[in-house]
Amino acid sequence: MSISDDCQSLNNDFSPTPISQSVRSIQRASNKAPVSTFNISNNGLITSFNGQVFSSIGITEDEFIASSIYNEHSLFNKIKPQIKRALAGEHCDAMIKLRGRTFSIWLSPEQDYKEITGVFGTCIEVTSYVQTQSALSEMQQEYLLLAEYSSDLITKYKPDGFCIYASPSVINVLGYCIDEMMGTHVFHYFHPDDLKSKRKLFAKLLDASSSDPFCYRVRNKNGDYIWLETTSTAITHSQTSEIIEVIAVSKDITERKETEERLLYLANYDSLTGLPNRALFRDRLRRAVSRAQRNDTQVALFFIDLDRFKTINDSLGHHAGDQLLRSVSRRLKQFARKGDTIARLGGDEFTVILEGISGSEDAVIVAEKIIELMTPAFRLDGHEIVVTPSIGITIFPNDAEDMRSLLKNADTAMYRAKEQGGNCFQFYTSDMNEKAYEYLVLENSLRHALEREEFKLYFQPQIDLHTHNIIGIEALLRWDSPERGLLTPDQFIPFTEETGLIEPIGEWVLRTACNEAVQWQKKGLPAFRVAVNLSLRQFVANDFVSIVDNILKETGLEPKYLELEITESFLAQNVDRTAEILTNLHNLGVQLSIDDFGTGYSSLSYLKRFPLNTLKIDQSFVRDIMSDPDDATIIEAIIAMGQSLKLNVIAEGVETEEQLCFLRSQGCDWIQGHLISKPLSAPQFIKWLKKNHSEQVNFKQEVLWPDIALN
Ligand code: C2E
Ligand code: MG
Ligand code: MG
Repeated sequence: MSISDDCQSLNNDFSPTPISQSVRSIQRASNKAPVSTFNISNNGLITSFNGQVFSSIGITEDEFIASSIYNEHSLFNKIKPQIKRALAGEHCDAMIKLRGRTFSIWLSPEQDYKEITGVFGTCIEVTSYVQTQSALSEMQQEYLLLAEYSSDLITKYKPDGFCIYASPSVINVLGYCIDEMMGTHVFHYFHPDDLKSKRKLFAKLLDASSSDPFCYRVRNKNGDYIWLETTSTAITHSQTSEIIEVIAVSKDITERKETEERLLYLANYDSLTGLPNRALFRDRLRRAVSRAQRNDTQVALFFIDLDRFKTINDSLGHHAGDQLLRSVSRRLKQFARKGDTIARLGGDEFTVILEGISGSEDAVIVAEKIIELMTPAFRLDGHEIVVTPSIGITIFPNDAEDMRSLLKNADTAMYRAKEQGGNCFQFYTSDMNEKAYEYLVLENSLRHALEREEFKLYFQPQIDLHTHNIIGIEALLRWDSPERGLLTPDQFIPFTEETGLIEPIGEWVLRTACNEAVQWQKKGLPAFRVAVNLSLRQFVANDFVSIVDNILKETGLEPKYLELEITESFLAQNVDRTAEILTNLHNLGVQLSIDDFGTGYSSLSYLKRFPLNTLKIDQSFVRDIMSDPDDATIIEAIIAMGQSLKLNVIAEGVETEEQLCFLRSQGCDWIQGHLISKPLSAPQFIKWLKKNHSEQVNFKQEVLWPDIALN
C-alpha cells in the first residue's frame, strides 16, 4: 500500500464532523500518540498544532503555532503547494523528510458552509514503514535480478495455467523469446506422452505444499524435446488462501536424462550389435511366456549359434570377428516382425522369440528364412567369409512349461543341429536330452582319448608319376574308440575344433608323424616326406611355429621331410598373419601344401604371395574326371597353373586307371589314392612298402600297376 493510500484510508476514518468536536477529540486522543493534528487558516497561518509526532526529532509543537507557511524556515513551507491545493478544496497528502525521519501528512480543506476557512491536517511518522517498504522493494528487485540472471528457467503462471512471466533464460533453455512464452498455456509445449499425466502434473503444480520436483519433456523452438525438472510453488492470498499464481523453477536435465537412458540402454542392450542382451532377453521371454499363458497362445524360442565362429575369430582377429557379429545381427533383423525379439546372449549365440505363432510351421518358415539370409558370403577386410547358423527351436507350452527349461531345450536342439553338420535347424524333441548327454559323453571321451592312447595314425603313400618312386605319405588321424570303434576324422575333428581339443590332438599327430618318419629312416626305409593335416585353429595359435620347430628338434626329423597341409580357407583369413606364419614355417625348412585345392573361394593371387610348394587337387574333381568335362578342364587348369608357378601338383583320390591316364596325359607330377593304397596303419604300411619296395626305393612297374599304369 502506498503512502497516499494510507492517507486515503485515514480520510475514510475521519468522516465530516463539526470541526470543534473533531479537533477536541483528536486533541485528546493524540496528545500522547505519535500523531499530530494541526489547523492552518486560509491565509497560511498555523493556528493549532497538537501531538508529539516531531518530539522524537526534538521539535515541539510550540515551534509551529502562529508560524506562516510562507515563512521559508517553516516546516510547512516544504508542503506549501499541497496546502494551497487543500485551501482550494482538494484533499491531498504529502511526505516530508526531517532529520532522517519520514513523516506523512494528510491535508483536508475545512469548510464553514460553502466557504473554505482553512486546512485540517494530520501528521504521522512513517519512517519504519518507508524503510520496510524500501527494503521490500530492494528485495523484490534482488529476486527479480536473480530470476533475470538465473540459468534456470523461472516462469509464473496464473492458476488457470497461462504464463504471466518468463525469465530471460527461456531463450537459452527453450529457444523461445519471452513474448512467445507470455500468455501460452503451461501444457502448450508438452510432449504428447507426458500430456497423459498432465492432470496429475497440474495438480502437483497447484499443490502449495508440494515441493517435489517433477520431470517432463517440452518442445523447444527447434522442435526437439528436452527434459525439464521443475519445482513449483503456489503463491496464495494471505487472507483467503486462494492460489493467486504459481512460480515454477525449471532446470534443463536433458543431458542427465540422456546419460540415464544410456545407462539403461547399456544394462539392456548389447553394445556391439545393439540387440537386446541376456538380461532384456530373459525379461522379454518371461513376459512372452506369461502372455502366452494368459491368452492360450504359443511361443517359439530359437537358439542360434554360428558354425566355426571361433576359428574365424581366432584367425581373422577380434576386430573382424566383431564386424562379422554386427553383420550377422543386421541380417537377422531383416526377418523380424514387430514384436519379435532378437537377442545376443554373448559370443556367437543369438536367440529369437516369436510370439503368437500358430504352430511349428511358422517356426519352420522363420528358420528357413534365417538360413537363407545367412547364405551369401560376408565381406570382411576384403575376404569373403561364409558363416552358417545352427538353430535349435523349442515351442512353449509343448516342449517346456517354464523359461529355464525352454532355454535349455533350445540349446540342446541347437547342439543337435551342429551334430548334423550345422547350417540347419532342429526342433527340440524329448529324446534330445539323451542325445545331449551322449554329446557330453563324447566330449568327455575325446578329452581322455589322448591320455588313453586311443588315437592312431594311418598313412597313405604318394607316388611320383615320372620316377614311379614313393615321394611321401600323408598321415591321417583315426580314433580307435573302445565304445564306438574306429572313427575317421570327419566323425570327430569338427567337434575337436569347436571345443579347442584339436590343439593338443594336432600336436600329438605332428609329433607322432615326425617320430614315425625318423624311426622308419633309422630302420633303413627310404627317406620321404610325411604330410600332416592342420586345422585352422591349430595354425593360428600363437606358438604354432615354435611347436613345429620344437617337435622337429625333439624327434630329429630333418625339416625338409615334413610337409604341412593347409586349406585355402587358411589363406582367405588374415592375410598378413597367414603370410607371416607360412614364411616362418618355410624358413624352418618345412614344405607347405594346399589341400583340397579348387574348393575354396579365395583369390589366386596368394599363390604367388605365400611360400607354397605343392597344390593338392581335391578328390571331388578327380572323381568325375571322366564324366564331367568341367572337372577335366579345372584339373587341366590347375596343373598348368601349378607348373607355371613352379609348384608341384598332386592329385588326390585317384581310384581308377582311367583317372591315372588322364592325369598323366595332363602332366600331373604326383598322385595319391586308393589305386595305389588305402590309408594303412604303420605296420600295414611297412608291409606294403616292403612288398612294393623290393629294390630300395624304386617301385617296380609291374608290382604296382601290372597292366597299364606306367607305360
Ligand atoms: P584329406 O587331407 O583330403 O585326406 C584325404 C582323404 O581322402 C582321407 O580321408 C583319405 O582316406 C581319403 N582318400 C584317399 N584316397 C582316396 C580315394 O582314392 N578315394 C576316396 N574316396 N577317398 C580317398 P580321411 O582319412 O577320412 O580324412 C578326411 C579328412 O580329415 C582329411 O582330408 C583331412 O582334411 C582331415 N584329417 C585327417 N587327419 C587329420 C589330422 O591329423 N588333423 C586334421 N586337422 N585333419 C585331419
Ligand atoms: Mg590332406
Ligand atoms: Mg584333401
